[in-house]
Amino acid sequence: MLIVQKYGGTSVGNIDRIKNVARRAVRSRKQGNRVVVVVSAMSGETDKLIGLAKQVSDSPEEREMDMLMSSGERISSALTALAIEALGVKSMSLTGRQAGISTDAAHTKARITGIAGDRILEALNQGYIPVIAGFQGMGPGSDVTTLGRGGSDTSAVAIAAAIRADLCEIYTDVDGVYTTDPNMVPKARKLDRISYDEMLEMASLGAKVLQTRSVEFAKNYNVPVLVLSSFNDNPGTLVTKEDEQMEKVVVAGIAYDKNQSKITVVNVPDRPGIAAEMFRGLAKANINVDMIVQNISSDGRFADISFTVPKTDSDKATRTTEKIAGKLGAKGVDRRDDIAKVSIVGVGMRSHSGVASKMFDTLAAHGINILMISTSEIKVSCVIENMYTELAVRVLHDAFELEKPMGQEAPPAKSKTRSGRKKA
Ligand code: ADP
Ligand code: ASP
Ligand code: MG
Repeated sequence: MLIVQKYGGTSVGNIDRIKNVARRAVRSRKQGNRVVVVVSAMSGETDKLIGLAKQVSDSPEEREMDMLMSSGERISSALTALAIEALGVKSMSLTGRQAGISTDAAHTKARITGIAGDRILEALNQGYIPVIAGFQGMGPGSDVTTLGRGGSDTSAVAIAAAIRADLCEIYTDVDGVYTTDPNMVPKARKLDRISYDEMLEMASLGAKVLQTRSVEFAKNYNVPVLVLSSFNDNPGTLVTKEDEQMEKVVVAGIAYDKNQSKITVVNVPDRPGIAAEMFRGLAKANINVDMIVQNISSDGRFADISFTVPKTDSDKATRTTEKIAGKLGAKGVDRRDDIAKVSIVGVGMRSHSGVASKMFDTLAAHGINILMISTSEIKVSCVIENMYTELAVRVLHDAFELEKPMGQEAPPAKSKTRSGRKKA
């Protein structure tokens, strides 16, 4: 088999662990596989580099940030290649650029636009284990770019797609994808398999075990992804195409995201074009808006518009919104950073009703107030106060009986019509 193995920050966190990674790569090769390794920076390294930049500048240039941050993965890739060589197997480290990874120009959150896999394949054919620095690529004009936090997952899956690997193994500090973050809920249960769509929702709703874009690549190019631990040989979780068995499970998992802020524009005149103008301004400022809720006053003359943005963008979003709100004649702009989004995810929601109401009932029964709600075909998200995040995740995990193995949970309230939105 042709296998891409990605090792995350914890897995290459110190020299002993790097040696462990080398042994694993060599073992897989001795089992007859052709192996390509992708590594993250040693754990804590990327944060440390960002910290250094902040000591030099209040708003560091993004181009320079990419130059700086990409160095973490260079170090771990060279050390890993050396460790493999020390075991008597030829190995060669490659930067993102040397590996042929092209991206767009969006520094610090670049998207991969293409991968010329020839250098990787050539190295493999010459008997090397290529060790590629994750998280980075080359933008137009040969500048180094990085792919956003957690981006080594995306490097690995995109490389797997480009060289048509049979499997992409993601080695991390937990041994698979769980029903929710096992570091928060000890009762969380490891899933044998999860569909691309469910994993995509889980990732984009905060489960950081895989970067969202890596799952997009996996889905689009049909790359089987196996999430597993580099510290043991437990079977991991296969991220794969949906099958009928998965549809029977109503809620597959729960995700949470504490990295959002809620911004509310208060008492904006309610007339056509207001929302368009506001969100046009935010889009121009390159701010990703997530949930949006609008309430109209009882006399219909004013509206409150609330939305969420990533915390990293919330200063910029508040400034931009205040400017637009002033122009539109709104009463003011409120911002809350003490919020979290908790979401339940499952492809089975398409064909079962009663799911959203069970979520709301459960939160209510524990005195947790819901600030915003949004749904899609396979998820329900609630924004709540940050301090209740852990409680909310735990009680929802209990309410949906996620600790029980697949297919054994109690039947949902009402069910069976296969007609799209049946959750409430
Ligand atoms: P790496 O450094 O290997 O890329 P990350 O820290 O990015 O690892 O991702 C692994 C972490 O993801 C786990 O330690 C866990 O706390 C978190 N996580 C969140 N949700 C889940 C989930 N549903 N299943 C497994 N891990 C999860
Ligand atoms: N080192 C980068 C980060 O910490 C990329 C990664 O680990 O995937 O975000
Ligand atoms: Mg990660």
